[in-house]
Amino acid sequence: MHSGFQKPTRIRLTFISMEKNKATETEISIEEKLRALYGLQLVDSEIDKIRTLRGELPLEVQDLEDEVAGLETRIGNLREEIAGLDKAVAKKGLDISDSQALIKKYQEQQDNVRNNREYDSLSKEIEFQTLEIELCNKKIKEFTYQLEEKKVVMEESEKILAERTVDLDIKKKELDDIVADTRKEEETLGEKSVTIEAIIEERLLTAYKRIRSNARNGLAVVTIKRDACGGCFNQIPPQRQLDIKSRKKIIVCEYCGRILVDDDIISEVLDNEGKA
Ligand SMILES: [Zn+2]
Repeated sequence: MHSGFQKPTRIRLTFISMEKNKATETEISIEEKLRALYGLQLVDSEIDKIRTLRGELPLEVQDLEDEVAGLETRIGNLREEIAGLDKAVAKKGLDISDSQALIKKYQEQQDNVRNNREYDSLSKEIEFQTLEIELCNKKIKEFTYQLEEKKVVMEESEKILAERTVDLDIKKKELDDIVADTRKEEETLGEKSVTIEAIIEERLLTAYKRIRSNARNGLAVVTIKRDACGGCFNQIPPQRQLDIKSRKKIIVCEYCGRILVDDDIISEVLDNEGKA
């Protein structure tokens, strides 16, 4: 009859009874919802564990990358500014040579003047060129001072860049190692999480996510431990515990708002996981 047709084994959504699911395709029972939610919680908590393992590393790497990029830009700008100042100093040097040549020419002309007026006129030119040289020397002094300053800043920046680059390499390697170790696992868990989410109704899933994001330990679904909520440890009255056990409706802790499930669900979800 079933000529060698094999059941697909790709998705292991075993805590949801597939047979029951077929019977009520659109709406799964409260009990199944609770199992699905608890299953989702287990998977998400595993993902949380992996992320905790990575800790602040991704952020630290990002910060270092930003800092290194900033330093590189800064050093690039400084290099350009230094080159510009070098050029300006050279230019002023050429201007001085030009002025000196002119002075020499004017002084030679003074030896051959025909009258005082011509001599005085050349004297004025010489005076002007002398002032030009003074001005150039002043500028060269200014530029050289700026150059020294910028070179100090650049050296400092290069030193910091070298240090940060080493830090970045180390942190990156650390992160890469952790990511490599856990990538496969995280992917598998991520797929599982998405698959479970797909069978939980939107409204309930939104509530789950909201509770989870508000809870410091990421727990939205908890069991009863020693007559108390496993999330906030407040006592749960016996009648309420019975209601939870009956799995007839979704009950949240009146203190912390987490969804409460009975202890038996743990083994049901985990057993089914193991069997699959
Ligand atoms: Zn609670």
